[in-house]
Parts: sequence; C-alpha cells; structure tokens
Amino acid sequence: MNILFIGPPGSGKGTQSKRLQDRFGLVHLSTGDMFREAIARQTAVGMKAKGFMDRGEYVPDSVVIDLIRDRLSAPDCKKGFILDGFPRTEPQAEALDGLLSGMGLKLDAIFQFDVAKGVLVERLSSRRVCRVCGQTVSQDQVASLASDCPKNPGSKCDFYQRSDDAPEVVGRRIEVYETQTSPIVGFYSRKPGFLKVDADQHPDSVYGLLERALGPA
Ligand code: ADP
Repeated sequence: MNILFIGPPGSGKGTQSKRLQDRFGLVHLSTGDMFREAIARQTAVGMKAKGFMDRGEYVPDSVVIDLIRDRLSAPDCKKGFILDGFPRTEPQAEALDGLLSGMGLKLDAIFQFDVAKGVLVERLSSRRVCRVCGQTVSQDQVASLASDCPKNPGSKCDFYQRSDDAPEVVGRRIEVYETQTSPIVGFYSRKPGFLKVDADQHPDSVYGLLERALGPA
C-alpha cells in the first residue's frame, strides 16, 4: 500500500505517519527528515538544503526529486510507503507521477490534512522533537511525560526545538505552503483514493479516520 500525505507544516503528517508505519508495516518517507539527516551528516545534499530550510523556503525541485528518486528505488520501499512532505510543488507532482508509473506503482490513498492557519502557528511554535526517537510533543507536555524514550529505554526523550519552528520562520513556511503547495491539492483531489481529513482534532481521532479509510491491515 502506498500513501500520500499532503498538508501544511504542523498539520500532523509526521505524527500520523509514525503510527500508520507501525500499523501497516510501511516505510515513512519524510523529505524533511531526509534533509535534516543529510545536514547532520554534512553531505553535499545537506549543504544545499540548509540555507533554504533555515529561511522556511523550499529546497530546489531538482535536489528534492533526485533525493526521492534514489530513496524510492531502495528495496525496503517495496513493502509500501507513506510520502510525507513530497511532492510540494507542481514539478515535484509531475516527477512523482513519472517515477511511479516507471516503477509500475500507484498511490492507493491520498490524504489532505486540513487545519486552520492560527492552529498551525500555535502548534509549530510550541512543538518540541526528540533527537533520539523523533516523536513530537508540545512544549507544555515535556515536563509531564512519564515514559522513557522508546528508542532509549532507561532515559527520557531529549527534546529540542527545530530551528525552522522559530516564530519568525513559521509564518514564512505557511505562506510558502499556501503559494506553492495549495495549487497541487486540486490536482490530487481528482485522483482515486483522495480524502480530505479534518486534522484539527486529537491525534487519536485523526488516526481513527485514516484507519477507517484504509480498512484492515
Ligand atoms: P514541515 O512539513 O513541518 O514543514 P518538513 O520536515 O516536512 O516540515 O520540512 C522541513 C523543510 O524541509 C521545508 O520547510 C523545506 O525547506 C524542506 N523540504 C522538505 N520537503 C521538501 C520538498 N518536497 N520540496 C522542497 N523543500 C522541502
């Protein structure tokens, strides 16, 4: 099963990807995570991406398309994948169509995450991410989290604020989404398997909607 998540920053795509990945045995393909890893490892791709990401701008299409082409051809993607954060522009959507048809694959479900802008600003500005397991929580939950880090038993999660979640960058990211990504939502809404999801709800409720739409694992 191959799934596409499309929605603004902070709409919960990453959170739901992690849950569905476990439930359906899929590979989570987050271009944002791939770029953050590339930056941490100081690769050529990471160096190209860093400035754009820090400003809340999109990384150039050619860089993103090359990255996803390589990743989709890896053997683990054969078990099915969740695309989270790609495509975000028209040329990326066209490139994805070409890549999938070249591989004899299709998208089985396309979910649009719909959340009001004010909620996004609030969520992103208070978001904290664990360096070790990648889970995200809001700032006011950090102190009260009782469980250990799932990837580091015996220790608590090591939360930090992503540099592009800084208040001065958040507004720009939402603006870039509206101008560059909103136009491709219309294209996907006409495809089979498309569902618009009200993502301004508790993550468990959003997950319930996705699970029902996908049917049994
Ligand atoms: P969010 O969805 O919360 O904005 P991501 O982790 O998906 O966060 O992306 C972070 C940043 O990575 C984006 O603001 C952008 O700079 C870059 N990026 C990720 N995916 C793409 C893409 N498909 N096209 C261009 N830039 C991308």
